[in-house]
Amino acid sequence: MKIPFSPPYIDNSVINEVVDSLRSGWITSGPKVKALEEEIKSFSGAKEALCVNSWTSGAIMMLRWLGVKADDEVIVPAYTYSATALAVLHAGAKPVMVDSGKDFNISVDAIRKAITPKTKAIIPVDIAGFPCDYDHMMELVNEPEIRNLFKAETSVQETLGRILVMNDAAHSLGAYYNRNQRTGCETDIAVFSLHAVKNVTTAEGGAICLNLPAPFDNAELYRELRMMSLNCQTKDAFSKSKAGGWRYDIVGLGMKINMADVNAAIGLAQIREYPELLKERKRVFATYTKAFERCSWAVVPPSIAGEKESSYHIYALRINDFTEEQRDRMIDEIAKSGVAVNVHFIPMPMLSFFKSLGYDIKDYPQAYENFKGEISLPIYPQLDDEKLDFIIKTVKAAYETVVSAT
Ligand SMILES: *Cc1c(COP(=O)(O)O)cnc(C)c1O
Repeated sequence: MKIPFSPPYIDNSVINEVVDSLRSGWITSGPKVKALEEEIKSFSGAKEALCVNSWTSGAIMMLRWLGVKADDEVIVPAYTYSATALAVLHAGAKPVMVDSGKDFNISVDAIRKAITPKTKAIIPVDIAGFPCDYDHMMELVNEPEIRNLFKAETSVQETLGRILVMNDAAHSLGAYYNRNQRTGCETDIAVFSLHAVKNVTTAEGGAICLNLPAPFDNAELYRELRMMSLNCQTKDAFSKSKAGGWRYDIVGLGMKINMADVNAAIGLAQIREYPELLKERKRVFATYTKAFERCSWAVVPPSIAGEKESSYHIYALRINDFTEEQRDRMIDEIAKSGVAVNVHFIPMPMLSFFKSLGYDIKDYPQAYENFKGEISLPIYPQLDDEKLDFIIKTVKAAYETVVSAT
């Protein structure tokens, strides 16, 4: 049986929405983007949501808005997809990597130790869709001693008066941070990814959620950032396309990272169905957990803790006491049966580029621990009982093959 890792969920309503955009005569940023932003806002509880063409470009723009410069530090987990740190480098600052906990998420204690007078922002990541400990993180950045350390160097930094917390919520659209609050409104800024493999997709895309404290005006900021995402041009293509609306100005150095309506159409149809799709992901997750929690060699991933609940984006199984090499062999065995699995993530300090910058995995023991026995299993609504049964049998058999050979 061939089981792909993460095929996009494309049904007739998605196709119809895209066709509607194509037939409408308007294919780039316009009514579909606006409608998707409204859906994301009401779904996540964010005060404002701005759609852009990727998580990465959105994060770079927000760090530029904050005004980070060479020598400024931004704290990120060592255990994440590289975009988290690459965005910091693109914005011209220095990523300061810290270790994670056993739940895969950034450790708040490690953040505390890493804060210096140069720290301008923290980018925690909701790994696999499981929300970080935001109560403690927001408390930390608001502690008087931590606020006193903060050196504001731009007007935005002065207004904020403390370290900015920008959640990398690439995985966690739909997760609950507490009983009646989904991710997207728990930090100053949260950025979702709408990339093809994410729970809700626009093929490529991202959404920046704004929840800045007073005296920031989030609605005003939305308008400013929207313009910034369109080369800081005072009139977008939609308004310019109207008769007599030709004159515009360029008022700053923006980026060109707006989302197109054809892309937004995919996400718009998906997010309307998302509560149902999320239930299906939860079903798949629970089936795996039921099957593996009885195996002494397996560590099942976190999904619910206190009031937090995952968005069930990745099923990150860990094999107890496995070396990297054994894990790799187990993946080869699984692949022989046609089941595609993955590893989330190779800690950044193990990748060539970051090594060349001086990062060393020895400084992040828990990140390495989380990585070395990790295998991500397929998780998406289309997986029925027969397929899940096959995947579970395949994974168990692969484990037996590897241990009996060593
Ligand atoms: C996918 C992902 C990103 C990048 O998203 P893009 O939309 O592809 O730029 C960032 N962070 C994490 C944790 C991701 O998984």
